Order: sequence, then C-alpha cells, then structure tokens
Amino acid sequence: MLMSTPQSQFSILSAGLSPRQEEDIQAILGPDYSLERYQPSGKNKSTNTRQRLMTLISWKGVNARISAFQRGEFQEDDAPPRVLILDSEVAQADLERVVDAGFAAVLRYPFESERVRELVRDFQESQGLYKDLFHMAREICLEREILSRQADLLQFFNKILTNASFSLDSVEILHQAYQDLQILLPVKGVDAIFWQKSREQQMEAELFIHEYSGKVIQDKMIGFLLENAAKYADESMDSYHVNFMSKMDGDEKLMEIRDEDVLVLPLRFGGKSFGCISIASERIARLGRDRLQTILAAVNHLALALRNALLYREMRTRADRDALTRLPNRHFFDERLVQELKRHQRYRNPLSLMVMDLDHFKRINDTFGHQAGDMVLRDVGRLLQDMLRSSDLAARYGGEEFVLLLSHTTEEQAWVLAERIRDAIAKRRFNFKGKFFRVTVSIGIASLETGLFGQNVDLFAEADAALYRAKAGGRNMVCLAGEEDDEEPCRKYA
Ligand code: GH3
Ligand code: MG
Ligand code: MG
Repeated sequence: MLMSTPQSQFSILSAGLSPRQEEDIQAILGPDYSLERYQPSGKNKSTNTRQRLMTLISWKGVNARISAFQRGEFQEDDAPPRVLILDSEVAQADLERVVDAGFAAVLRYPFESERVRELVRDFQESQGLYKDLFHMAREICLEREILSRQADLLQFFNKILTNASFSLDSVEILHQAYQDLQILLPVKGVDAIFWQKSREQQMEAELFIHEYSGKVIQDKMIGFLLENAAKYADESMDSYHVNFMSKMDGDEKLMEIRDEDVLVLPLRFGGKSFGCISIASERIARLGRDRLQTILAAVNHLALALRNALLYREMRTRADRDALTRLPNRHFFDERLVQELKRHQRYRNPLSLMVMDLDHFKRINDTFGHQAGDMVLRDVGRLLQDMLRSSDLAARYGGEEFVLLLSHTTEEQAWVLAERIRDAIAKRRFNFKGKFFRVTVSIGIASLETGLFGQNVDLFAEADAALYRAKAGGRNMVCLAGEEDDEEPCRKYA
C-alpha cells in the first residue's frame, strides 16, 4: 500500500525531549524530517508549508504537564498523532492514564532505529486518513453535541482507521472492522465481495463470508452479495469463489437474517466500485443519520485498505500462480515438493504425489477451440481445489498437466482420492457456448511410506512413469508407481 512520499519536508514536534534524544531522532530519520521544539503559547501552528507528522512527548520531560496536554492543544482535532517517549520508569497506573489520553504509540528510549522509522512510515501513510477522520469528527461535533455519543464515534473512527490501514490482509481487515463496528451497533457479521474482469473478459468474484451459524445464512449472504455486485458492477458475475472466515469469540448463534437487517455498501476506488461490503445488524433500520454517515465514511477508508490488501495479494501471488487457473504454478510446486520431501525424511509421515494429464486434450482445442480448452482447464483446477484438504497442494504443472501433493496421505488413500477425481471429471458434462462434451484424465501416483522407499527415490519420475502406464493402458485410469511387473496394473486397490 505504498503511498508516494511527498517531496516536502515533514516536521516533528518535540515536547520535553532532551537535546540528546532530539539528536538521536534526527540521526535516525535524516534530513527529510526536521524537529521543532514545542512552544506552549500556541506558536506551533505556523508550519503550514511542512506537514506535521507527529508529536513526540517525553515522559520524563513533561510528565508534570500531562494533564495540561490532556486539555490543551495536543488534543485538537487536527493535531498530529502523539507518541510517548518512555525514558524513565513509569508506574502502571500512570501509564494507563497516559495511554487513555490518546497516545498513538509509545517509543522506548534509547530508540530502536527500525521501530522509529516504521512508526514514521505508518504515520505518513495514515496521515491522509487521519485528516479525514478529524474533519468528519468536527462535523459530527457541530451536528450533535451529545458527548457520550461523540466519544463513541471518535473511538470507533480512530479504531477502524488505524486498524484498517495497519493490515494488508483482507480477512484481517474485515474481522477488525467487524469488531470495531460493535462500538456503534451490535453487528452480526461483516462480509464482502470483490470482483474483477479476467483476461478473458469474464467477471470473477471473490467473496468473504462469516461462518455465521450455518449454510442457510451463509447462502443467503452469498446470494445477497452477488445480487449487489451485479447491481454495482452493472453486469452479473460469471464465476465466484467463497472464502469462509472463521467464527470469532463472542459470536452469537444467529438463526436468521432479515433483508432489512443488512446494509450493503459499495467499495470504491478511483470513482469505480470494485466490491461491496455488507454489515448485518438488527439495528440497521434504526440507525441515526450521524451513525450512518460515520459508517459511510469509515467504509470509504475501509475500501482503501481493502483495495491495498487485494493489490498486495495480487502482487504476491502473481509470481507463483498460474494466471489461467489461479492454481500455484510449477515453480511454487517444485519448492513445496522439496520442503515436503525434507519433512518426510524427518518425520517419516506418508507422502503422496499425483501427476495427472487430461486425455486427448488436443482434440478439445481442435474441435471446440482454445477458449473451450481454457475453460476446461479452469474448471478442472477449481474441481481439484474443491476436492482437496487445505493441507494438500494442487498445482498446474504445465499445459494440461496438474500435480497434487498430498501430505500425510498413504498410497491407498491417494488412490481413493485419485479415483474420485478421475470419476468426477469423467462424469462432468462440460458446456462451452451450448456445446456439450466430456473430458477424461489419466493419473499416476507415487508415494513415500515409512521404510518403503530409500531416501533418493525420485518421486516425480515415479509418478510420471505411472502416468505413462495409465496412458498406455487406455487412459481414464489411475496407475501406481511400482506396479510395472504386475500382470494387471492399476488394479491394486480396485
Ligand atoms: P494425451 O491423452 O496423450 O495426453 O493427449 P493430449 O492431446 O492431451 O496430449 P498432447 O500433449 O499431444 O497435447 C496437449 C494439448 O494441450 C496440446 C495443447 O494445445 C493443449 N494445451 C496446453 N496448454 C493449453 C492451454 O493453456 N490452453 C489450451 N486451450 N490448451 C492447452
Ligand atoms: Mg500433456
Ligand atoms: Mg494430455
């Protein structure tokens, strides 16, 4: 989520720091940052040309004046975040009082350079967000002078913004938003859908759904989000994938969700919506205007954080995923295979490898076109993923070849799974633009079981040889490594 660093200098206000501490900070951060000493008379506001990044407050230096700070200018709505420098022993009770006063972070002295830089980086990134936060807060103050409520909103805002911009994981961001929203209203779930166009111009959606208390509500939320996605994207989704987010502590059992209990809001970036977020709560219908506005503003910032998380993930996965099926690619698989072999040598857990190749695939391309072939590859990829445990790995090894690495799986278990996969693919009717056809697959299996193989067995070559026999034996067939001499191969467990 790197935002570009503005060329202009940043200023940092120093309150009560010793010259030595100031020097240390300066040395860590370099000339792009300048320290300015705090003037109690309010002359600190003149630094318009530079952006004030944070205020460092030394515990030792200004402890006596902390209560003045609490009331005073450091609390102003557009004041930069305050960082407490812990440079002397502090009693727990005192510390709690200070932390309650709204410090954004604590730095211990002597400073750890990396921690200081990290903090500065984080503040630079969230500075934009903070500004909006405080402007929003000011409006809320004017609108309604109900203090307790205002405190709620502020606390919520502060939380949701800080938390959202500190994570690059969409599940984490949604979980956190779910928790932070509880400050405003009792929320039952926060779910999301994101969409994008594939290279083949297909609308692909990815959903993040709370586990709730079961399938009925999950399905309802999935339907709801897909409907809204179609509305905001202005076209329906061609395919979608659901990620379930595990239950959280304190989740209640939820028997039903009524339509009017769900608030669905679009997530926008650069004027375009790329997703929707849904907030389920029985209070949605009775939400006051100020709360609703607060939620809208918060969702705008969540959109930013989620967008960053998606981009970040894409960047990371692009390198080790296959673009067509989104499965891990050969490179990724090869690395995992090495790891799994090492693990097997150490722990002696059984390990199985399946190599599979679609039969006569060339004919599919020749008869129905490459796009049909691509669709089959995508479908098969999805089918594999659906049939595997989370500890298994399915990868696209190349062309129409897939590999499955199954940890803690014996040869017989692998064979059962391979048969299920073979059967599921053979039974599937593929439909490309109204034309129906079938595809079969040949599978070779090699396994390492305790004491059965020497250490230097080439698992992949073994599985490949078994695949070759499955092809030679007539295709649409599963063969095991080491069956060469059997009179009737591929029948060991049948
Ligand atoms: P066999 O049963 O012996 O495996 O026959 P086959 O036709 O599947 O095997 P062959 O290796 O002769 O052909 C593989 C075909 O897979 C050829 C190639 O055009 C096709 N293919 C490989 N990658 C892709 C892809 O990404 N998309 C499409 N549509 N086709 C692909
Ligand atoms: Mg092939
Ligand atoms: Mg083939």
